[in-house]
Amino acid sequence: MTSNIENPINNDSDIRGRAALALSSLSPSQLTFLQNLPKAELHAHLNGCIPLKTIKELVDEYVMEVDNDASVFTTTPSGSGSASEPTTTPRPPKHPLTKTEILSGYSLLEKFDSELDDIHAFFAPFAIIYALTNTKGRLRKATRAVLEGFLGSADGNDDRDSNSNISMTPPQAAYLELRTTPRTTSDMSRLEYLETVLDEVERYPKDRMGGLIVSLDRKMTLDVVREVVDLAVGLKTGKRRVIGLDLCGDPLAGNMYSPLLTQCFQDARNAGLGITLHIAETAQNPSPESIHLLRAFIPDRLGHATFLDEEAREVVFDGNGHGHEEGKRKIGVEVCLSSNLICKTVPTLEDHHIRYYLERDHPIAICTDDTLPFRTSLLAEYALLLASAPWGLGMSEGEVERVARGGWGMRFL
Ligand SMILES: [Zn+2]
Repeated sequence: MTSNIENPINNDSDIRGRAALALSSLSPSQLTFLQNLPKAELHAHLNGCIPLKTIKELVDEYVMEVDNDASVFTTTPSGSGSASEPTTTPRPPKHPLTKTEILSGYSLLEKFDSELDDIHAFFAPFAIIYALTNTKGRLRKATRAVLEGFLGSADGNDDRDSNSNISMTPPQAAYLELRTTPRTTSDMSRLEYLETVLDEVERYPKDRMGGLIVSLDRKMTLDVVREVVDLAVGLKTGKRRVIGLDLCGDPLAGNMYSPLLTQCFQDARNAGLGITLHIAETAQNPSPESIHLLRAFIPDRLGHATFLDEEAREVVFDGNGHGHEEGKRKIGVEVCLSSNLICKTVPTLEDHHIRYYLERDHPIAICTDDTLPFRTSLLAEYALLLASAPWGLGMSEGEVERVARGGWGMRFL
């Protein structure tokens, strides 16, 4: 392991575990190579990528608001529209978690860097994060922090050398596509949720911030699925920067065979949205379901794709020609190494299915998934490729560059 005391990234306490070890094992020239490599981040969830220091600030704001607002009722005009006879009606609480729950949840998030029992344990801390991002103000702040974490500031005024005005630390990603599941809260409709995020997304030029991928959670009712897809299509038609539709959430939840769900993905595709699916994330995901998702939803990309069987992999390699005049195109795979290792969906880095796709020269994109719980960064995920064993896969710089180019080619633009 190379001593790398002056490497500023070693001091980044947000990165821990295997990714941190891989990163700190790199030589200075390897680190410079990775920093300057144009990297596209295509699989990052907004609520899972909020920097820990921003979470702390949001916790402080939340706690202050709870202290200043003990009321769970609001006074509104009566249903007739007349303001003359106000009635007091219950409202969904702006602060769904108590101060104690938020503070204990924060301490859980702070410690959330060890191996999980399984992938389901991963979803537990998100109740706290969702409570923190349930107002427009806090959602805006969280989104800005996530974008700056990946891309640097929107105006390009980052950490600059005072003499040369050259940025000293290249941003994590040269290009980003961010995804999120729109939620309705006491402060926002789903449309307002998406508009709040898009306002931040559109502060960046499109060649750096490609746009927003709207996620459907597998637990959504079909009514909500229809509403969300209509919102995504409407925003895209209205020239807002929505570029894709995603399927995510608990890998074993929901009925994926609903004709309405298939119709929704068809409508999204017809509107020009790219399609990406979290698929075959666990060994319990039945193979017929994966085949159905591939054939009915016609994805451009797949998230994880850890447990695809040979029949499904044939579809992935063969690709789909839908919407591509040049004919069939391979379905690219979004690979999230730390996520898979920490959720124990793959036993070791050496056993990771990335090797299978690399051996077949299939397009993959190295992505982070959720930088907060997995304590990683895009740079650290690339370090897992370049670092020598036992910390990484020991790929050459040329091989890593080729992987990055493949990911770049998978953008929805
Ligand atoms: Zn994901």
